[in-house]
Amino acid sequence: MKRVLLYVLAIAFLYGCGAGKNLISIDKAPVQVFMDLVNVTNDQVKVIVNPGAFTVDQISFRIPKTVPGTYSSDDYGQYIEGFVAYDYAGDPMEVSKLDVNTWSVSNATKLDKVSYLVNDTFDTENEVEDAVFSPAGTNIAQDSNFMLNLHGFVGYFEGYKEIPYRLIIEKPDGLEAATSLNQIVLGTNIEGGDVFMANRYFEIIDNPIFYTKPDKETFKVGGIEVTLSVFSPNGAYRASDLRERMERMMSAQKAFLGDIDATEKYNILLYLSTMEDTDAMGFGALEHHTSTVVILPEAMPKDRLEQAMVDVVSHEFFHIVTPLSVHSSEIHYFDYNDPKMSQHLWMYEGTTEYFANLFQVHEGLIDEAEFYERMRNKMSNAKGYDDSMSFTTMSKNVLEAPYESNYANVYEKGALINMVLDIIIREKSNGEKGVLWLMKELSSKYGVDAPFQDDQLIDEIVALTYPEVGDFFNEHVIGNTPIDYNIYLEKMGLAINKVEEQSGYFLQGEIPYIDVDQSNNDAIFVRKGIDLNSFFTSLGVQGGDIIKNINGTAITLETIRPIIGQSFGWSPDTTITMELEREGEVITVEGPVGTPTIVVNKITPMENVSYQVKELRNAWLKG
Ligand SMILES: [Zn+2]
Repeated sequence: MKRVLLYVLAIAFLYGCGAGKNLISIDKAPVQVFMDLVNVTNDQVKVIVNPGAFTVDQISFRIPKTVPGTYSSDDYGQYIEGFVAYDYAGDPMEVSKLDVNTWSVSNATKLDKVSYLVNDTFDTENEVEDAVFSPAGTNIAQDSNFMLNLHGFVGYFEGYKEIPYRLIIEKPDGLEAATSLNQIVLGTNIEGGDVFMANRYFEIIDNPIFYTKPDKETFKVGGIEVTLSVFSPNGAYRASDLRERMERMMSAQKAFLGDIDATEKYNILLYLSTMEDTDAMGFGALEHHTSTVVILPEAMPKDRLEQAMVDVVSHEFFHIVTPLSVHSSEIHYFDYNDPKMSQHLWMYEGTTEYFANLFQVHEGLIDEAEFYERMRNKMSNAKGYDDSMSFTTMSKNVLEAPYESNYANVYEKGALINMVLDIIIREKSNGEKGVLWLMKELSSKYGVDAPFQDDQLIDEIVALTYPEVGDFFNEHVIGNTPIDYNIYLEKMGLAINKVEEQSGYFLQGEIPYIDVDQSNNDAIFVRKGIDLNSFFTSLGVQGGDIIKNINGTAITLETIRPIIGQSFGWSPDTTITMELEREGEVITVEGPVGTPTIVVNKITPMENVSYQVKELRNAWLKG
């Protein structure tokens, strides 16, 4: 999974600028699932699940609480209503609801099928506090599109996850499925919808289906057939607009990975959101073995959309290595309703995110300075989390406080842990080996069907590498000592220096110093926990301050935009009066706007480094 933090204000600013009876035992027959996308009322889809015959007296039907890759408890059962169990005579049976995700049926030997209605998650993301992350969510938009993350639609009978599923979907004319799920092609004279087969419940979860008016591009990368499907509600983008950049990027990924086994087909399912109240608001993507669902705003300009796609899709595609190939038994035998977490998010998400950056410099998609800048950004973003929290403990307990709120550090410090690991292994092996080599070793030993034991992985990595790697894990990954990155960067002839840079008044590059608080009537506030530029600090503005008024204009999302626009033309002696709300009190600050600067840390090559160090750096960044 990859979460993209997009500043609502920056986007708004850009936008402003431009069944029959069947008594075969359940063990023998596939579970039949019918979904009706044609007769949709109130944005609900009817689902019927028809198993074979049960020989037990009591059976539970469950919708997942969580699914792999999300690392959160989402209770997809909360979107289900009108649950009815029918006996073979077609009469409703008694059902008791055990929890939000579980329904229990007595006299199960008489159970023919269950039926229920599914609500989508996109509609309610703005209303609920712990909303499902959109790429794991569902969308039901009659005659337009259906985002079928199937864990939101299809449940399983307790104890019967390892049997085949047959999925039959009635779909509206004009919509077509995009998916990696195995589709059965029926003869033209056979009535019925699209038919898909899954060997076990896991394949249902692992293969989202996206129904849209067809807009697909297919290309080959190495031996992989990649299909990009796009839904753009206002027709801003077509798959053909994004194909070239995706093709170039994925070819570079394949070149970087070399001989690591990959899949034969891969589907990129891109949903572009209008960002309206009832549309998706969680931007980023969720990984699957042979596909990924990506959600981004349609309002993004092309160059930024392409870059976001490169960063997000490359991350998801690298998940092929871990956890999709290299993973522990906790993940292999995933319990959808009582999940056990693994200690190794530093690898599942950290290695993945590190590779998604490293391959770009490795294959010449970005230069070294850009790579250093990205790592430096991760160092500063990591400061927003608890740097003294053991990464393995956090990972193991990530569904609970206080660990849950540190999850997103897997993309920041998690990637940096891998950078340091890469540097240690490169140094010890005279440039020959690195983290990519390590992952190849692990994936040849383990793999899709062979999980490792969670508490043995680090020992195994140390045995494959060097004692120094063990020291590093013990101190900084299992242990809670923050990492001094200087020590490791120096081995590569790099140093972190403080540099004063010019900044905008309200934006540093594309990143705003201010944001919109949607939970407080769209109040405009100064972001907390970041370094502010000299414009804000010299006026005495602090992070968290709400900007109420600038030069007599009451500040709202609408009125701040033209002021940001005007600020590009301010001279240093332009004066400003700002009314701020700080902890309930109103404060007025005023003075000249000055020339805004900000002191930033920058990773830069040191002068006079030895030939050996330069070679080592080359081996690290260029392989
Ligand atoms: Zn991820």
